[in-house]
Amino acid sequence: MQLYNSLSRKKEEFVPREAGKVSMYTCGPTVYHFAHIGNLRSYIMEDVLEKYLRFTGLDVKRVMNITDVGHLTSDGDTGDDKMLKGAKREHKTVMEIAKFYTDAFFADCAKLNIKTPDAVVPATSCIDEFIRVISTLMDKGYAYEAGGNIYFDTGKLDKYYVFNDFKEEDLAVGVREGVEEDSNKRNKADFVLWFTKSKFDDQELKWDSPWGIGYPGWHIECSCISMQTLGEYLDLHCGGIDNAFPHHTNEIAQSEAYLGHEWCNYWFHVHHLNTNSGKMSKSSGEFLTVSLLEEKGCSPLVYRFFCMQSHYRKNLVFSWENLENAKVTYDKLIAKITPLLTDKGGDIDKPEFERLMSEFTSAMDNDLNTALAVTAVYDVLKSRSNAATKLALLAEFDKVLGLDLIQTAEKSLEAAENDEIPAEVMELAEQRKAARKEKNFKLADEIRGRIESLGYEIKETRQGTEIKRR
Ligand code: AMP
Ligand code: ZN
Repeated sequence: MQLYNSLSRKKEEFVPREAGKVSMYTCGPTVYHFAHIGNLRSYIMEDVLEKYLRFTGLDVKRVMNITDVGHLTSDGDTGDDKMLKGAKREHKTVMEIAKFYTDAFFADCAKLNIKTPDAVVPATSCIDEFIRVISTLMDKGYAYEAGGNIYFDTGKLDKYYVFNDFKEEDLAVGVREGVEEDSNKRNKADFVLWFTKSKFDDQELKWDSPWGIGYPGWHIECSCISMQTLGEYLDLHCGGIDNAFPHHTNEIAQSEAYLGHEWCNYWFHVHHLNTNSGKMSKSSGEFLTVSLLEEKGCSPLVYRFFCMQSHYRKNLVFSWENLENAKVTYDKLIAKITPLLTDKGGDIDKPEFERLMSEFTSAMDNDLNTALAVTAVYDVLKSRSNAATKLALLAEFDKVLGLDLIQTAEKSLEAAENDEIPAEVMELAEQRKAARKEKNFKLADEIRGRIESLGYEIKETRQGTEIKRR
């Protein structure tokens, strides 16, 4: 499989260190709020990657952290701890907030068919390990104490900016514009490993350490959790593109300084979900959640399908209209699969199966081209193969795409057999009624078209609206 590696900035053949096995690490959520659908875009695409690696026969072990301490409002070392902010906002303790939003995160993941990683590790459960690794970095001369905090000394590295050719002088201290200068730092890019003093002192969770009572920085948690659970060598590290710098850059710096050798071979970064006003972010306060999509009548799997239709290395623009288009396309897809279920006759046509399967795998082998993989789904449906071959292919593809293609078609068939009008058609009928009331006949006609594409007919009779199967 060819995969774009942010480290080499090119597509490369993905070859795990140990034949047949993959160690995979994912930066988990900061659990101070609900995950927004931008965060979830990253987790959906990482899930597809994991599932595809398994599909090709690799034995994947995947680990994810839960950030429940240490992530400050700025990705650098300034601002409040996000967890503390969340706790204050909701008048709860940090641990209550962490539990609530961790559970909410996995509930969203379940709705989106995102598999739970093999190990999920909260940062607060690994404090001793962080202290051990930071102590080694101190012993090796890669870390120093200043103003009460422990910093990583990036000046000790031959190359710090691994993902981009940033010039140090072009960067604001810490990370970005607006970040205050920390006069304790020896070099602009140095970052905190352990806080004992900072400009706020009401941090709720604090632990004893050789350097005084305090709490860990955000970056050290991912290095430690990865090394502790997956060993000294990591095949694949994932995250959203905003994590490349400084978070992943700092992870590499401290892990390699600690280990004394190279650490992770492949870095997989998912680009952003944007709205018209820019990147969707929790801190802006304006973000969309899975529950909100559901409230608006959109199944979470339609959002997964929406993500699948574009490449993970391109920004994706969210609008309700774009999502609605994805919904219409998904429904049409299901309507094409449903008749296959009642026509299962015939044996699998092996040459045809192989031909269409290779269309799917070549799409996925080309840097996870899910949009082309979706085209392969259409090509299966358009092909002259028998129903058994088509269903077998769709079932295989869906192990990776996770769109519940056959299960949803089964539900729709069941509803039809019970002569039930599916909820979706009923909802469209309501929308059409409203459009007609407002004399928006163009919209009413459009909605009628959509009802028809789902296999139903709608007409006005003297008794009212009649809906039946076509
Ligand atoms: P956080 O909960 O803020 O730690 O972020 C969790 C994951 O979501 C990280 O991998 C981020 O890089 C990713 N992420 C944050 N915002 C977006 C976005 N708008 N689009 C895609 N991924 C994002
Ligand atoms: Zn991380």
